[in-house]
Amino acid sequence: MNQRQTILIVEDEKINRKIITKVLGEEYDLLEAENGIHGFNALERYDQKISAILLDLTMPIMDGYEFLKRIGTSKWNKIPIIVMTGDANPETEKEVLDLGAWDFVPKPYNTQILKSRLVSAISKSKVDVYKQIHHMSEHDPLTGLHNRQKMFANTGKMITDYPEQEFVFLKADLDHFSLYNTTFGEEDGNDLLVHYADLIREFCDVYELHAYGRISADIFCACIPWDGDEKRLRNQVEELNRRVDAYKADYVLEISVGVCVVEKGMKVEDLYHRASFGAKKCKNRFGVHLGTYSKEEIEQEAENIAIVNDMQKALDEEQFVVYIQPKFNLLNDKVCGGEALVRWKHPVKGLISPGRFIPVFEQNGFISKVDFYVWEHTCKRIHEWVEAGYQPDPISVNVSRVSLYNPHLDKVLIELIERYDLSPELLELEITESAYMTSPGLMNGVVKKLHQAGFTILIDDFGSEYSSLNTLKNMDIDVLKIDMKFIPKEDDVEKGEIIIASMIKMAKWLGVTVICEGVETRRERDFLEGAGCDIIQGFFYAKPMPKDEYEKNYVIPWNV
Ligand code: C2E
Ligand code: MG
Ligand code: MG
Repeated sequence: MNQRQTILIVEDEKINRKIITKVLGEEYDLLEAENGIHGFNALERYDQKISAILLDLTMPIMDGYEFLKRIGTSKWNKIPIIVMTGDANPETEKEVLDLGAWDFVPKPYNTQILKSRLVSAISKSKVDVYKQIHHMSEHDPLTGLHNRQKMFANTGKMITDYPEQEFVFLKADLDHFSLYNTTFGEEDGNDLLVHYADLIREFCDVYELHAYGRISADIFCACIPWDGDEKRLRNQVEELNRRVDAYKADYVLEISVGVCVVEKGMKVEDLYHRASFGAKKCKNRFGVHLGTYSKEEIEQEAENIAIVNDMQKALDEEQFVVYIQPKFNLLNDKVCGGEALVRWKHPVKGLISPGRFIPVFEQNGFISKVDFYVWEHTCKRIHEWVEAGYQPDPISVNVSRVSLYNPHLDKVLIELIERYDLSPELLELEITESAYMTSPGLMNGVVKKLHQAGFTILIDDFGSEYSSLNTLKNMDIDVLKIDMKFIPKEDDVEKGEIIIASMIKMAKWLGVTVICEGVETRRERDFLEGAGCDIIQGFFYAKPMPKDEYEKNYVIPWNV
């Protein structure tokens, strides 16, 4: 059902209002005002309801001219106005049209003309409003560029419409834009964005096929044809950066542009994600303005997110399991201890190795919880062995950098061994060389406290940081673990062996026990024996294994 429309008649002559009412009353709801002031009162009261205004020009209080002037700058300036006057001449007509009237009807009224002009003005105004709303729904009001929805839709359509054409998708943003806003004010910030938008427009308009728009704040995107010429694209981006930077003298403005080549069938959101990844690589790197992504990096990031999402649940559900890798004394080839190494038994992904999740946990600090979990499970198992009457060799656990920063680390560990009634010699602690190197002062303090508590300290992955052998003498440690994987293998075996031999020699001078880990071959084993290494850990003897298996093979006396 069509709703009746409301027309406002602003006319001082009662008789004229009556005539109009007679002509239009059947089809429209009519509001009457006898001058401009009353007209505005009616607008105030009925506001959105009024579809059109019929306006007389000559009235005693606020005439039609004044009414037109005022309404032109008011919120009602989109309502169509038809002016009615007996003084019909071209000058008057021009004047009122210039003031914003939509149409003109001479008095005395021709009822048919009045009706049809009214109908046409109302329908035209609706189209205009629709157009305006439509425009607003697709454009960014500040820069006039397409907004995110429209830009993405255009990109999708362009890629589908031109299947033979290759495209690149770019995401560009300004470094430290919010700082610019705070420094120069929001208005200046907006001007910069408009300038930036103009440059993006110029950047894209040289291509016959293009899609571009403002996504949000200082983020703009573009999709343009790709000819594989990376050098040219880099030059274009550098030029864009130069022009953005030139906007403000004495203030460095830099852009970060991420780029990805469009692969058939990809969603625009995914292109955006890939390009964002590239852009992130240039963030806060002076002089770097174009970044690309690699598939592996994107996958890795997604996997890291999944790891973070699952980690707490994994801990609560005891999905982390402790494996033990035995260590062997080179004097008699007999087991002399083991190292506890964590694995993640993921319900869906299966067994995940620590190399995959430990770096993620180290970054977000969760590693300290996993560390404690492993220490506790290890203590518990050693306790069971002791309780069963066996004489277990010590097991070493890894202590991450994050745990080392815990000022109560010694207390935590003491509390643990006390709870499980263990002597501290049974739980050895591995600290990586890199943690030691970054803050040797702090580490020496930590190590001192741990020594006082009776723990044995091993320096893990020695050689990975290429720290000077000289620093070794400043470390108050008991055991040095040298990882074979940090020593050159294929290219220069002899050189690698010389390095290891000198590390061992140095450690011996200092009275430090040496363990070599990552030993895979008999050749390596024999070389290490000759070089004076004390203990070996590696696949040559045994891989890390579940605790039960370790227990069966290396703890229960009649099996050892
Ligand atoms: P790491 O502490 O240096 O442990 C030695 C790593 O070398 C282990 O890898 C072990 O499986 C591997 N390995 C042993 N022998 C050989 C060999 O002959 N050849 C080769 N190619 N590799 C060998 P895994 O278990 O994957 O652990 C990797 C690293 O993850 C560990 O290096 C350690 O830094 C960390 N990690 C493992 N468990 C824990 C834990 O409970 N807490 C903390 N903070 N870190 C852990
Ligand atoms: Mg270790
Ligand atoms: Mg190691």
